[in-house]
Amino acid sequence: MKKKDLILGAGIIVIALAMLLVMQLTRGEEGNQIRVTLDGKIYGTYSLSKDQTIEVKDGDFYNRIRIEDGKAYMEEANCPDGYCEEQGKISGHTQTIVCLPHKLVVEVLENENDQSFGTSDPEDVAPDTIAK
Ligand SMILES: [Zn+2]
Repeated sequence: MKKKDLILGAGIIVIALAMLLVMQLTRGEEGNQIRVTLDGKIYGTYSLSKDQTIEVKDGDFYNRIRIEDGKAYMEEANCPDGYCEEQGKISGHTQTIVCLPHKLVVEVLENENDQSFGTSDPEDVAPDTIAK
């Protein structure tokens, strides 16, 4: 009886630790998003943690942005220079893909969850507003 309880207890601890690890891993992956801006207007924001294809059509302009393995890249575009397709994959802060002929910008937005705890506190916001 006692031995069985011990095994059961150990099993629960192992499962709990595994769940904790999975939670931490998924939290890290969830973070970043990309924002697509077309002619200065926000076209949409998309999570980098989900594989997807974003088609942007504006008149004769066509861009297809692909998100794969947490990275975004321009899969296809009918712009004359095709430069955006050569800009590679983006996944981190300050990285962008620009399609100049179509006035299209794809930029990475970093997850700001860590900071949102602080900004919701009025005491953290107050010094900034007073200083300026
Ligand atoms: Zn382009």
